Amino acid sequence: MILVTGGAGYIGSHTCVELIESGYDVLVLDNLSNSSRESLHRVERLTGHKVSFVEGDVRNGDILNVLFDTHDIDAVIHFAGLKAVGESCECPIFYYENNIECTLKLVQAMQDHNVKNLVFSSSATVYGDPQKLPLTEDMPLSATNPYGRSKLIIEEMLRDLPRADELTHSDNPWSVALLRYFNPVGAHKSGQIGEDPNGIPNNLMPFISQTAIGKRDCLSVFGGDYNTCDGTGVRDYIHVVDLAKGHVKAVQRLLSEQGLDGVQAFNLGTGHGISVLEMVNAFKDCNHVDVPYQISDRRPGDVAACYADVSRAQTELGWKAELGLADMVKDSWRWQSRNPEGYRVIG
Ligand code: NAD
Ligand code: UDP
Repeated sequence: MILVTGGAGYIGSHTCVELIESGYDVLVLDNLSNSSRESLHRVERLTGHKVSFVEGDVRNGDILNVLFDTHDIDAVIHFAGLKAVGESCECPIFYYENNIECTLKLVQAMQDHNVKNLVFSSSATVYGDPQKLPLTEDMPLSATNPYGRSKLIIEEMLRDLPRADELTHSDNPWSVALLRYFNPVGAHKSGQIGEDPNGIPNNLMPFISQTAIGKRDCLSVFGGDYNTCDGTGVRDYIHVVDLAKGHVKAVQRLLSEQGLDGVQAFNLGTGHGISVLEMVNAFKDCNHVDVPYQISDRRPGDVAACYADVSRAQTELGWKAELGLADMVKDSWRWQSRNPEGYRVIG
């Protein structure tokens, strides 16, 4: 069985579908602070399988101990965390407290129960302001905001675990996959599960979808004077279903005969950069909808371009993104148009 913390959220719910379809039982622990129980009901309907769910906080060690005592857990995928960059600048303590304490309590319970296979949700944000592209996993790391710093601190903390195994001659050493996501977008092709942001979206794709459906008047394109193909920011957008499959590959590798040695980082992206205007135009053309936009000032803290070298994930995990830009924009629109209020209206 796989314990999925934060499994009711955007990436977690898609990963539950892929895990179940690959034959795993899943147990979700989520405090529903940024998600709804409905996402998991839909995962159950999509897969025809039950998802064991516990509503609770990962910072609660007592809950974790009960879960490990009462379930046969082979590996953990740790999604639970807060992820809004702007909010993290306003409330850094809240971000450090939630994201770091969740991880500390989790790895303590894992160690106590001798379950030492972990997949951690990291982010391309740990590369800071990239000096060279594409980004490989061994490039220098830095943080430009408290959210990114929480990921960086957690990565560093996790790297100490196998070092301790060596010193203590552990016969069951830690195996940890740090998955550095680039820009997750899209939704399950059924239109049943997708991203359900609270309030005004910070990220590009949900803002485009909400503009297309008329919830927002106009998309602000942050900066038209970057040194990129058309002056707008370039990112490596990755379809959430491809990303979810990357987690299954990581789990399979952790649980394989070969295993995974210590802590290893993997970029999960497509390896291709897409500009904001390319994304807007693909959304309009593929979905036959209008997306009014205007070029506005650059957003503070944004980098011009960011995209991954994905060869390590391909070689080591046997994973490669398969879905392209058309799938990303069509699936985002299917989710948005069928669920205009997200999970708040049962569709
Ligand atoms: P999400 O907010 O949809 O999912 C996170 C889930 O964790 C939510 O269901 C939330 O209720 C839960 N949660 C938060 N704190 C918790 C706690 N203390 N105890 C129990 N549950 C808790 O976000 P997502 O987009 O699915 O992201 C999942 C992970 O991936 C996060 O760690 C995020 O930082 C990371 N990540 C996301 C992106 C992205 O663009 N979406 C990019 C890189 C990394
Ligand atoms: N962006 C934009 N308008 C928006 C949101 C984002 O122009 O309303 C741009 C942003 O400047 C960046 C890209 O879209 O170039 C992706 O931004 P997002 O916030 O989705 O992800 P980030 O890479 O910043 O984490």
